[in-house]
Amino acid sequence: MISLSCHGQHSTKKGELCPACEELLTYAKARLDKCPYQKGKPTCARCPIHCYKPAMRERIREVMRYAGPHMLRRYPILAIRHVLRRH
Ligand SMILES: [Zn+2]
Repeated sequence: MISLSCHGQHSTKKGELCPACEELLTYAKARLDKCPYQKGKPTCARCPIHCYKPAMRERIREVMRYAGPHMLRRYPILAIRHVLRRH
């Protein structure tokens, strides 16, 4: 998600991150390591702990705002394919 947002918003090459997004990703990973919910957790937005520092949360929100619609646009196709395969 971060790379998608970075590529679109900061015009970095695909698969590369600008220093700011690199820092954000490192921070997010470190937080996830310490998160007691780990992989079974709900999304961070619904996480009751709110482990992100306010400034970082704001940046994560920026990423979600950018990448979210892109993900949603891709998701229906997968959903439709899934239904077609089953019927
Ligand atoms: Zn970036």
